[in-house]
Amino acid sequence: MNYSKYYPIDVLNGDGTRCALFVSGCIHNCRGCYNQSTWSPDAGELFTEQLSNQIIKDLNDTRIKKQGLSLSGGDPLHPANTGEILKLVKRVKKECEGKDIWLWSGYLLAELNKQQQAIVDLVDVYIDGKFEQGLAEPNLKWRGSSNQVVHRFR
Ligand code: SF4
Repeated sequence: MNYSKYYPIDVLNGDGTRCALFVSGCIHNCRGCYNQSTWSPDAGELFTEQLSNQIIKDLNDTRIKKQGLSLSGGDPLHPANTGEILKLVKRVKKECEGKDIWLWSGYLLAELNKQQQAIVDLVDVYIDGKFEQGLAEPNLKWRGSSNQVVHRFR
């Protein structure tokens, strides 16, 4: 899995102060996508064990309290990403007590395959659906167009 950006402190993607990882790889081709540079799974840099360790460390850093981890892209549920993302969300749930996980994906909740579903089972908030330019509204919270749905599981 490759990633395009990692922010150890982020206040724009989900509730509270968070860590945010933007992965590479997306097949949805949404018109008006704000992040086309992440479409290729080969874009950006390789996600390493070292960065995984850093994310866990940042989430547990008590100097700046984090509410959780946000996963976006690109698409964290792109087939090239599901293996690493599953490992990462398992680590967060095991090693970061009380931290929540938010995940943005173009795949609808109803169309997930088994591995994608295994990830979403560990996620607290799942925002699904492609970005639809004709349904874009600037005032929507946590989503760009009104077809997208914020699923709060916990
Ligand atoms: S799902 Fe997101 S990253 Fe992928 S094309 Fe659509 S808006 Fe862009």
